Amino acid sequence: MEHAPVYLDNNATTRCDPAVVEAMIPYFSEQFGNASSMHAFGAEVGGALAKARKQLQALLGAEFDHEIVYTSGGTEADNMAIMSALETQTGRDEIITSAVEHPAVLSLVGHLEKTGRAKVHIIGVDAKGRLDMEAYRKALGPKTAIVSIMWANNETGTIFPVEQLAQLAHQAGALFHTDAVQAVGKIPINMATSEIDMLSLSGHKLHGPKGIGALYARKGTRLRPLIRGGHQERGRRAGTENAPAIIGLGKAAELAMEHMADEQTRVAGLRDRLEKGLLQRIGNSFVTGDPDNRLPNTANVAFEYIEGEAILLFMNREGVAASSGSACTSGSLEPSHVLRAMNVPYTAAHGAIRFSFSRENDESDVDRVLEVMPQIIDRLREMSPFWRERDKIAAGDEAGFKPTYA
Ligand SMILES: *Cc1c(COP(=O)(O)O)cnc(C)c1O
Repeated sequence: MEHAPVYLDNNATTRCDPAVVEAMIPYFSEQFGNASSMHAFGAEVGGALAKARKQLQALLGAEFDHEIVYTSGGTEADNMAIMSALETQTGRDEIITSAVEHPAVLSLVGHLEKTGRAKVHIIGVDAKGRLDMEAYRKALGPKTAIVSIMWANNETGTIFPVEQLAQLAHQAGALFHTDAVQAVGKIPINMATSEIDMLSLSGHKLHGPKGIGALYARKGTRLRPLIRGGHQERGRRAGTENAPAIIGLGKAAELAMEHMADEQTRVAGLRDRLEKGLLQRIGNSFVTGDPDNRLPNTANVAFEYIEGEAILLFMNREGVAASSGSACTSGSLEPSHVLRAMNVPYTAAHGAIRFSFSRENDESDVDRVLEVMPQIIDRLREMSPFWRERDKIAAGDEAGFKPTYA
């Protein structure tokens, strides 16, 4: 029997909701005006953009107008927050971030450090992916310009105590930014009662379009543009507004709000059933991340002594899509930087698979995964020299363990 494909890679990207597509379509054709124009064509688009901004504001609990700056996505929002802080925080040139951030942050701060523009403190995490609070407190000081720590991790779903982190950052006079790309639309966020100064989000992670995101910057936070040119977005982000995408993101925000309360519990139920079922059926496997504090939609399961890329290939043949570590690092043989920061042994980090749900998944998806996974893991282990040698490897120094599947 042919099975419908199963998509469990929603932390990489989500399907644009059909209602979002429908809301966008007129703005490619009939409503093609430039919002900045002084005629009716522009005015209609301007009105729709204002509505979309309100919809996104509502999802974030943002109280004031002009706290949202649209960007090309989460990556640009992250870059803007950090670059802006280095310019506005005079006399401060240090950045604090975590070892498990998305490359949108880690790659930028690495570049800033290498080019001598900032001193970077990278705070480690424990085995569950929780931030080392003592190291964080120690790193904060009179030179800290900005702290950038994610709200929720994209690979394990671990949620960070961002309010507490923001309070501590403020005590040191630093700005606090959070990459909330994986949190927005999945768990409640209320900027009205928050300490956070800046927050990044992305449309395509919440059933909106790709190529649109936003930086929330609390009223009163000084911002420097990353992209200079015209005075769109009040001079904070130049370039003609991506009207269809902004309108689509507004609709996506509205839908996320509508579904959030129900979906949080429903999706967590699917995830829990998947995890339990996998661990029951497959030995030498375990769940990574913080079981007590994580996103409802993310399961990261490590299958020991086999290679994640091979698992994904076999899963793909069965029509099941998931991911190994972050999509950005697939193709390389290095295991996920997130799992390595958590000290997950190489023997397991290499075989970690991330299953990420959305409101479009149901019980039948879980059933299908539970049906195909045991055979896939068995077959790969039969072929794995590391599986045969597992007793020796477990007893020896696993740090030297580096599979060389070509
Ligand atoms: C996907 C993702 C990003 C990048 O967002 P884009 O809109 O694709 O640029 C940044 N941070 C996290 C945590 C993500 O999951």
